[in-house]
Amino acid sequence: MDVIELTRRLIRFDTVNPPGREDACARFVGQQLKAGGFNVSYHAFAPGRTSLIAHSPVTDDEDAPIVLSGHLDTVPLGSAPWRHDPLAADLLDGKIYGRGASDMKAGVAAMVMAALVEGPQVPVTLVISAGEETGCEGARFLAAEQRLPMQARALVIGEPTANQPLIGHKGALWLELEATGRSAHGSQPELGDNAIHKAAEAVNRLAHYRFDGFSHPLLGKPSLNVGTIQGGSNINSVPDRALIGVDIRSVPGLGHNVLRQDLEALCGDLVRFRNLTDMEGFASDPQDPWIQMVSKLVTPYVEELPVPRAAPYFTDAAPLAAACNRPPTILLGPGEPSQAHQTDEYVFTRRIEDALAIYRKILRS
Ligand SMILES: [Zn+2]
Repeated sequence: MDVIELTRRLIRFDTVNPPGREDACARFVGQQLKAGGFNVSYHAFAPGRTSLIAHSPVTDDEDAPIVLSGHLDTVPLGSAPWRHDPLAADLLDGKIYGRGASDMKAGVAAMVMAALVEGPQVPVTLVISAGEETGCEGARFLAAEQRLPMQARALVIGEPTANQPLIGHKGALWLELEATGRSAHGSQPELGDNAIHKAAEAVNRLAHYRFDGFSHPLLGKPSLNVGTIQGGSNINSVPDRALIGVDIRSVPGLGHNVLRQDLEALCGDLVRFRNLTDMEGFASDPQDPWIQMVSKLVTPYVEELPVPRAAPYFTDAAPLAAACNRPPTILLGPGEPSQAHQTDEYVFTRRIEDALAIYRKILRS
């Protein structure tokens, strides 16, 4: 089986998330790697939601592995009709069509094939995760269970970048803020305690929050958006509860705990805070020798010379990098960034071959 055929085989597993059902696909990938001499283990964060870890049986502690990682789940098909069966993996004019073709079964296939071709004597660990699209549940489970290497030489996430290395992305801290009060008849508001007034005051303070002018050299400024507000049940009552949804996109250097404490202090006792999503970002140093090596290495394969760039979305990079002692980390994969989550999603076969060559060079470096 070559890397193109492996990509097509992976697309034919239905791993649409929700519900996910990555198990069969994970077992298939695991069988290939086991047959190639790798140690394989399976880890399900919920029934059928299986991630796998495969590592070369190299015991030398001096040799921290390169970690190659990709996710098996895909986003749903969407409501628009597909011209190509999303699970058939049609091969046409140098493209493979299907859900997950770009995001990111082609990336997983190229990583698996690179490990198989280079062989188990190369220090490499493959982390193939479930449940990435809905909040990195698989990768976070592996980190919490301490299944990941404590040290990694470098970390590569095969997200669709058209083989361009991206060296960072923002984090996401989503908060629910709850204001509470006391209900009373709307004609006698002085007898109640208005939760919407408190929520409004909190929103007003948040709207003027500026993160102390903090800016990251690669990722720029963090941002805060109040995305939802709900409260009150009828117009002639004093509301006793109101909820605010806040979406913060953070940058490394602003720890989420510190950020939340700062916002709690800003809002005083107007609201109570609850985390909905808590994913830190990451940024690699553009001057790091390994990052520079990869930039040089990909030059023959990409249309534009690599410059330090970041991704707009978040990925498994953050939980994996944190678990592996923050090695130099990149996103690099054969999928087209414009194709992720699209109807009639496709991937160019040429890019898959190139990604295989790039991953092999990374493993040999
Ligand atoms: Zn993805």
